[in-house]
Amino acid sequence: MGFDTSGLLPLSDALQGMLEQLACCCDSEQLPLPEALGRVLASDIASPLAVPPFDNSAMDGYAVRLSDLASGTPLIMAGKAFAGQPYQGEWPAGHCVRIMTGAPVPEGTDAVVMQEETQADGDRITFLAQPEPGQNIRRAGSDIGKGACVLPAGTRLTPREMPLLASLGVATVAVRRPLKVAIFSTGDELKPVGTPLAHGDIYDSNRYGVRAMLARLGCDCLDLGIIPDDPAQLRAAFIRADDEADVLITTGGVSVGEADFTKQLLDELGEIGFWKLAIKPGKPFAFGRLPRAWFFGLPGNPVSAMVTFDQLVQPALAKLAGQRFERPLQLQAVTTEPLKKSPGRLDFQRGILSQGPNGLEVRSTGSQDSAVFSSLSWANCYIILERERGRVAVGETVTVEPFGGLLL
Ligand code: AMP
Ligand code: MG
Repeated sequence: MGFDTSGLLPLSDALQGMLEQLACCCDSEQLPLPEALGRVLASDIASPLAVPPFDNSAMDGYAVRLSDLASGTPLIMAGKAFAGQPYQGEWPAGHCVRIMTGAPVPEGTDAVVMQEETQADGDRITFLAQPEPGQNIRRAGSDIGKGACVLPAGTRLTPREMPLLASLGVATVAVRRPLKVAIFSTGDELKPVGTPLAHGDIYDSNRYGVRAMLARLGCDCLDLGIIPDDPAQLRAAFIRADDEADVLITTGGVSVGEADFTKQLLDELGEIGFWKLAIKPGKPFAFGRLPRAWFFGLPGNPVSAMVTFDQLVQPALAKLAGQRFERPLQLQAVTTEPLKKSPGRLDFQRGILSQGPNGLEVRSTGSQDSAVFSSLSWANCYIILERERGRVAVGETVTVEPFGGLLL
């Protein structure tokens, strides 16, 4: 059996320990609405208007007073109300008003009867059904009351919020400046894409993953490239990142016994904890403070780097950026294949979730080695296997988390 896992830090403890130390570090600025897409609201948005602002018709039909319908005789059409063109004429007893969707209902309207429930003979309108009071009237303020909080501070503005804010006449919004995040990869073996590989070299893939995730989160990225395993160059990169960014994220060089000068340097420059997490993939992880910036050291293995970013760094960056954060929904699914698992760590296996004849089904993407990138690129969900769980047989129920905005 494997190594002793009793001293490993649970993911939830690591997350809580980090979040307790962090607070929003991004000032706010006022931006015109169209430029605020993707930014985080710095304060609650209270509605300056009632929505809808006036009682209006939900249908094309006729505005009526119930007292006029009591006799059962047809009503005479007094005039017409259009959206943007209210009916302002007289409304004598025994009359109704032709009304279109969105038009303000004339003063005294009890209900709007839809056109399909009437018969018109010139201006004489026969009503085929007795309407309920208030029927087909959208009341002023029924969607949003004046002064009501429509969006709380911390909301990241997506295309769904833009028309809502526009409907309230909001022209500018107070939003946080983007979080500035410096990144670099460490390792003598790493080469950037577009250059040839010598024997023993590999392409630096982590930086492209981390950059892509930062873009999804709306962060400004300062990409410092690849830094070799060399103390002087590493020191210079740490200092530059600390000067210019709110956060530094590196990958590689945080595993046990390896590139020890990374640890030495970080101890010298700041207060960094090297954690061994009880998760798989992603055991080695470093977190702490440089003189000015926060530091996150991700494992070098590409899948581990992505998973630890998603599970730990993402919520931390959200907090620093002033953004409310919720994990994607977790669901239950039945496995269609056995899954390898040994007790001791919380597994984030990569799976393919699909709709089976009897509900959700999930299978593995194959090798779950933390260096095997296909396990992540073919997947559409995590299969989350509890720390003490062992091998999973076909037909067992497991927790799955479909990839949300970050990994999609
Ligand atoms: P390390 O954490 O530096 O010991 O790296 C662990 C493994 O991940 C090694 O096989 C490295 O070559 C690999 N690795 C580290 N950084 C990267 C990177 N940026 N892109 C791809 N693989 C990496
Ligand atoms: Mg390395």
